[in-house]
Amino acid sequence: MIPRLKGTDDILPPESARWRKLLRVFDDMAERYGYDLALMPAIESTELFSRGVGETTEVVEKQMYTFEDQGGRSVTLRPEFTAGIVRSYIASGNQGLLKLAAAGPQFRYEQPQKGRRRQFFQVDLEYLGEAAPGADIEVIEFSYRLLESVGVDGIGVRLNSIGDAADRVAYRGLLQDYLRERQSAISQDAQRRIESNPLRVLDSKADAEVVHDAPVPLDHLGPEAAAHFDQVRAGLDRLGVPYEIDPRLVRGLDYYNRTVFEFSATSFEAAQSSLGGGGRYDPLGELIGSKHPVAAVGVAMGCDRIVEAMAEPGGHRLDLYVVVADRDRTADAMEWVGRMRARGFKVDWDASASRSVKAQFKAANRFGAAAVAMVGGEWSDGVVSLKLLETGEERKVSVEEVEEWMKQR
Ligand code: AMP
Repeated sequence: MIPRLKGTDDILPPESARWRKLLRVFDDMAERYGYDLALMPAIESTELFSRGVGETTEVVEKQMYTFEDQGGRSVTLRPEFTAGIVRSYIASGNQGLLKLAAAGPQFRYEQPQKGRRRQFFQVDLEYLGEAAPGADIEVIEFSYRLLESVGVDGIGVRLNSIGDAADRVAYRGLLQDYLRERQSAISQDAQRRIESNPLRVLDSKADAEVVHDAPVPLDHLGPEAAAHFDQVRAGLDRLGVPYEIDPRLVRGLDYYNRTVFEFSATSFEAAQSSLGGGGRYDPLGELIGSKHPVAAVGVAMGCDRIVEAMAEPGGHRLDLYVVVADRDRTADAMEWVGRMRARGFKVDWDASASRSVKAQFKAANRFGAAAVAMVGGEWSDGVVSLKLLETGEERKVSVEEVEEWMKQR
């Protein structure tokens, strides 16, 4: 046996039923909110992430799957969607609005544990070419409704603004002074970050006590960033999306400005409890080579964790399982199954055309059918025997009545 790599998962039934539901709801909602589908490469030039995500971030410093390909280029398995999507937006010369939805695996070399995998799956929205707070409001509201729709309990939304790059110049100095004065009381990671990435210390769990009284970006916003933040808050209030301001939320990556946010759920307990997050990232386009600023905001939701927080989907996997009781009717049954499937019903049968009636009933139960229709001697009169698997109730009905019953359920 060749073992599965550490930190990767085989996602199979019955667990995969929740995944299917999540991906369906995401795709359906994205379409309703006006997001087009983006299918992106899983492998990119390493430089895209070192410049885009940022040299001094945890992801780039420690977690990337980077290697040299056969042609001697340094390539990296994507650790996130945003940098690749912005790369493609710039390359297409698109200066207009573009709303994209993406789903797929990401790769980060981490110490695996519950909710922390080396290959994990994200659903993602990117709202490109829009500077107004309405775009921030929309991606936050979308993410909240997504979690609600798949049945996540106790959804928490944390919200903050880290201001514009210009606001941060002065603020960064203040924070560095504060941290330098307390250098001996903070973790080694935090000491290292004083020079390279002091903002990141704000949400360091190990330094929570020291950082509690540190100056926060929210108190140092310029007037435009402050007005933007007020409008985001007002919009969320108006849409009934509950949130809490967390002045120490900064998120790990370098490219954010203004709005940042993160989602959690009381039903998901793990060391890493964030179900998703995102923010506005106007500086990213220019970091990776755009000649023009690219106003944009996005969100990435972690599917592995959301699925853990989801309730088991109720209901039946199949509307009907067709059992062939008279083998002379096998071809008729196959044709009927095809007709029902074409009409949108979830129907399965014994395609082997060889199993006993008992074995077919077993399969019907195993695959979660709501009912069984037995095709036997009365087929020539258009009659089958319909058995509801939950109650055991059985009656002779016409083929039309079976379809009517499926429609009603
Ligand atoms: P990030 O942009 O790093 O905050 O990632 C967005 C979301 O992806 C997180 O909130 C998690 O739900 C999920 N995520 C990030 N890293 C991992 C991982 N190693 N394993 C599972 N999910 C992850």
